[in-house]
Amino acid sequence: MAYSASCPVCSAQVNLADDVEESEVVTCPDCQTSLVVEQVSPQPSLVEAPQVDEDWGE
Ligand SMILES: [Zn+2]
Repeated sequence: MAYSASCPVCSAQVNLADDVEESEVVTCPDCQTSLVVEQVSPQPSLVEAPQVDEDWGE
């Protein structure tokens, strides 16, 4: 089953992989903001990613 959480910026529902992990970076499909998975359980939550000057390694 898949998780979803709401974007802290625009409140859109963001779908998360079912193996999502804390600290994973996802992009909001609506506002394109980079978001960090703050916690996975009991309820997934997202926070805005800190602005950094370098690329996140894939
Ligand atoms: Zn958003």
